Amino acid sequence: MPELPEVETIRRGLEEGLLGARLSGVEVRDPRLLQDCSLPELERLHGRALKRVARRGKFLILDFEGRALVIHLRMTGKLLPQEEEHTRLILNFSEGKRLVLDDPRRFATLACVRADELEGFEPLRRLGLEPFTPGYTFENFRKILETNREIKPLLLDQAKLAGLGNIYANEVLFRAGIHPLRRANSLSPEEAQRLFEAIPELLEEAIALQGTTISDYRTATGESGSFQLFLKVYGRAGEPCPRCGTPIEQLSQGGRSSYFCPKCQA
Ligand SMILES: [Zn+2]
Repeated sequence: MPELPEVETIRRGLEEGLLGARLSGVEVRDPRLLQDCSLPELERLHGRALKRVARRGKFLILDFEGRALVIHLRMTGKLLPQEEEHTRLILNFSEGKRLVLDDPRRFATLACVRADELEGFEPLRRLGLEPFTPGYTFENFRKILETNREIKPLLLDQAKLAGLGNIYANEVLFRAGIHPLRRANSLSPEEAQRLFEAIPELLEEAIALQGTTISDYRTATGESGSFQLFLKVYGRAGEPCPRCGTPIEQLSQGGRSSYFCPKCQA
């Protein structure tokens, strides 16, 4: 599933390839996409130029002169410049440019929202703290930790912290030296500080490598990311910890796999 670095990489690719291009036609191949965006609403975008591509958490926001398409790629959604096997939607632009939503498992969502109503749009409104914004301060971060919940599922809770998924949650906990089963409110101020710093550090490194491609994710130009080559614990059960050599362990937590070094992560 694309997480913050992958969605940010796609955002940058769309900005580079499509900013200023005018929408000339829409082909909906999968009517299920129209649940939160009717065909007339989509057609109202015809002739409008793509003015801005923004991201909030794992949501992409394509602003067509005051009307926005809000896209969440979920499990297997990809935004590509050409058609592939599982096309659900095609946006045709001026100069022959295209934006294709390819999505084998069909969980991606699309919503049409007026740009001036984005802030009140429920799925965006309920997102939590966003790394790389002025609101991401240690003070605000510590407030998230004031709970008895286990730290790993807490990091995945988009209403608390926006953008992390299972891969990066595992990796930030390794980087900060914190065991995934720890209770959030048991973290010392030093541990909280390490975690607070590890999150944007790791995300920035992953963005620089265009994200992590393990199965489906690809950039807006169809390329793979390369951060999978730098994962320290995710998917590495049984392999030696890159820091101390102890075999990486795996456990199931809230239905997701947690990977950790039993020695480096206390
Ligand atoms: Zn270790």
